[in-house]
Amino acid sequence: MQFYVNGYKPGDPFVEDAHPSVAQRSDGLPDEVDVLIVGCGPAGLVLAAQLANFPDIRTAVVDRRDGPLAMGQADGVACRTVEMFEAFGLADRLVAEAYWVNEVCFWRLDPDDPTKITRTGRIRDAEEGVSEFPHVIVNQARMLAYLQDHMERSASRLRPFYGLEASGLEVDAGGASVTLQHLTTGGSSTVRARYTYSEERQAVAEELIDFDRKFSKMFSADGKGVDQEEFQRYFVAQGRFTAGVATRHAPSIITAEATDQHLAEGFQVGTNFHSAPVIRLADAKPVQLGHAARADGAWRIYVFADRDGSRARKLCEFLDSDASPIRRFTPAGADPDSVIDVRAVFQQGHRELAVDELPPVLLPRKGKFGLVDYEKVFCSAEIFELRGVDRESGCMVVVRPDQYVAHVLALHECGRLADFFAGFLID
Ligand SMILES: Cc1cc2nc3c(=O)[nH]c(=O)nc-3n(C[C@H](O)[C@H](O)[C@H](O)COP(=O)(O)OP(=O)(O)OC[C@H]3O[C@@H](n4cnc5c(N)ncnc54)[C@H](O)[C@@H]3O)c2cc1C
Repeated sequence: MQFYVNGYKPGDPFVEDAHPSVAQRSDGLPDEVDVLIVGCGPAGLVLAAQLANFPDIRTAVVDRRDGPLAMGQADGVACRTVEMFEAFGLADRLVAEAYWVNEVCFWRLDPDDPTKITRTGRIRDAEEGVSEFPHVIVNQARMLAYLQDHMERSASRLRPFYGLEASGLEVDAGGASVTLQHLTTGGSSTVRARYTYSEERQAVAEELIDFDRKFSKMFSADGKGVDQEEFQRYFVAQGRFTAGVATRHAPSIITAEATDQHLAEGFQVGTNFHSAPVIRLADAKPVQLGHAARADGAWRIYVFADRDGSRARKLCEFLDSDASPIRRFTPAGADPDSVIDVRAVFQQGHRELAVDELPPVLLPRKGKFGLVDYEKVFCSAEIFELRGVDRESGCMVVVRPDQYVAHVLALHECGRLADFFAGFLID
């Protein structure tokens, strides 16, 4: 239904209408952009795929290669990466094409006959329940092709420029000037960009690189100096790292201090939002709650209702009032869930709740016809148990656009919620 929010039209619903700026854009490299991305590796293309969803942001992507990567060196895809691909609508294809790493076997030279190898251990690959997705293997070139495909189907029809090497960078108050060498034709050009990439990932990247160093050393030890059982123990102990779910962002303006963590122990502030199955109220469809998150730049407030739902309804009244951060930060004319998207999970069964008695903030009107979006409310008592959410008092879990938990708050903390958003959103 979400595909046709502005009415049915023929054609592939996965290809968005091109933004009017696409027709006005010249084919060549622009002189000036908002964001310039150097490098079409996984980091560059994930960012490009995300920005492609925002045609108002002028983005250019360059790489010194002469074309898309044909054969990548990497092929292991962590569960968390598949979760991220789901937000781009790419997980189904990836999971269908990939090899699934369900179990891992450990081998070494057979001490009785060193011309053979013998199996020393066999374990589950990823800890049970760590993600709704498996750890998979697919060539990195295919991962990048999916992302480029997403960019081309987006409203901005974003495409990388190849054969351009960044050779100089000058940063000033207005942004950055990047010198690009044209590797096939010779010569150079300069592109002005307004923004450069954030610092938050630096600490996370360093931690991951340290882990990778130690891990790859053990892998390549070739049986020398590394005890097989120790290696197997390390492999199991580091399972959350290899599944990609060990990252925890430190407190910042977009990640709060975990003062109310006891209300939802399974949604740790700073870590990725751990999905769980729920039933969508309006159509009784079993879905993953985490898949409500799309790569659309929106913040999400997951309202986990208290036992009888009364505090959750009160919070919804606030979210619909003039003091609401939704009113304050949503631009005029934009869909009400485009900046802050409210979802609610009730403890009652889906046959015990009436859709038409839900608070208006959970039935937002969208698109050019003002159709009601009925997909905001879910039912499940199990998710409260699975993720340690307090069933008596409920809570709200605020999730960043990149699916990391930003805040956990009691349902009555309307002021703190409003203050949190006011710390970084612009009126
Ligand atoms: C042998 C090997 C096996 C691996 N296996 C795995 C695996 O199984 N799973 C996994 O998750 N990871 C694996 N990795 C790690 C993985 O490849 C990297 O983490 C990943 O590629 C990093 O992505 P990136 O976008 O940061 O950089 P890169 O993939 O290195 O991409 C950088 C891009 O920037 C371009 N570029 C660089 N400098 C310039 C410039 N000045 N101007 C223009 N363009 C430029 C390059 O051409 C390149 O396309 C492996 C790495 C190696 C070496």
